[in-house]
Amino acid sequence: MENENFDRFDREHLWHPYTSTDNPLPTYKVREARGAVITLADGTELIDGMSSWWCVIHGYNHPVLNEAIRRQTERMSHVMFGGLTHEPAIELGKLLLEILPPGMNHIFYADSGSVATEVAMKMAVQAQNDAARTNFATIRSGYHGDTWNAMSVCDPVTGMHGAFGPALPIRYFAPAPSCGFHDEWDPADFEPMRRLLEEHAGKLAGVILEPVVQGAGGMRFYHPQYLRELRKECDRHGILLIFDEIATGFGRTGKLFAWEHAGVEPDIMLIGKALTGGFMTFSAVATTRAVADRISASESGVMMHGPTFMGNPLACATALASTRLLLESPWQQRIAEIEAIMREELGKAEGRPGVRDVRVLGGIGVIELEEPVELGEFQKKCVANGVWIRPFGHNAYIMPPYLAVSDEQVRKLCRFLVANV
Ligand SMILES: *Cc1c(COP(=O)(O)O)cnc(C)c1O
Repeated sequence: MENENFDRFDREHLWHPYTSTDNPLPTYKVREARGAVITLADGTELIDGMSSWWCVIHGYNHPVLNEAIRRQTERMSHVMFGGLTHEPAIELGKLLLEILPPGMNHIFYADSGSVATEVAMKMAVQAQNDAARTNFATIRSGYHGDTWNAMSVCDPVTGMHGAFGPALPIRYFAPAPSCGFHDEWDPADFEPMRRLLEEHAGKLAGVILEPVVQGAGGMRFYHPQYLRELRKECDRHGILLIFDEIATGFGRTGKLFAWEHAGVEPDIMLIGKALTGGFMTFSAVATTRAVADRISASESGVMMHGPTFMGNPLACATALASTRLLLESPWQQRIAEIEAIMREELGKAEGRPGVRDVRVLGGIGVIELEEPVELGEFQKKCVANGVWIRPFGHNAYIMPPYLAVSDEQVRKLCRFLVANV
């Protein structure tokens, strides 16, 4: 174990995600990262297939983003948002309202995806302003973050209900849609949700879900018609519709945002992850004038949330530079090219024993397996082969930094995956 890529202090004292402290999975020490390549302490180069959990869309160490950060640091890294404002927040807000669903009119800047989920759920409860309507419905296989309310709407099996069960508020779950993105729409797919909303509407402030692509809860791609049906039912029952686009936003699914696949707008929408190009933590919750007006007219009269680092100038400046860079790039064409390569290469695993399903949408390629992947062993093979991929459960997937990877790098990632699952 004692080589340059391993660190004893790290192993003995630092918590890493989802591994124990007494027998942790290995961690590899990174010296630097550039473009789509992560370099370990001993000089080993890994092609990044994860975009560092789906956020580093332009690649690492991008000169334009580095420069935006440097320039903003020289003005101010931070200033409180209570009673003060600044250009990066304003310019970012203007740009976001140009690219978010047309109905969006107000933006709340928050610190991370999970906090955005908390803010969105609080918004919905405050907008309803009705002590009876404070609960939420969602679909299984979702993921919305690691804080309390976010956990409560994550998939009850793959999420954290096992560890925290009785400590979590009880939500209403419909089955995950089973009609796939490319399948023919089957109206029966929406019936359980229709019945659930019919029965419990009087208790519901909102429905929260990831549009079209369910990420960390199962890497599933479902039919956009589901969202059109859901929009109709939410309107009928006065339930607010919340789209969590933290993972799907900024081009990942082939559209700038995933709601565009369905053409129906939410009442509240969350963005995060790729918002800063993966350079720092940041998120935003957007909503309509109608929802904002209802909060203003409620008892408290104001949105009851205001974190220390709200509207952090450094994060806003980075998000502004990243989003401009994205919009100036041929992102749509690039994602279509990567999608075609993944379809061709990952398709070779289709029908193989042990492979349950192969699916590709935009910049996401998934091989779903019969058995869960043994992560420690798998990652050892990754490092030995010069790639970085981190499967979870039954899903081995790649989500490369799509504006930084070459065709050759995408092929190498795919071929490794096909040969090693
Ligand atoms: C990652 C993710 C979150 C949580 O974001 P964090 O920044 O990790 O707190 C919420 N929703 C979705 C869909 C995500 O993919």
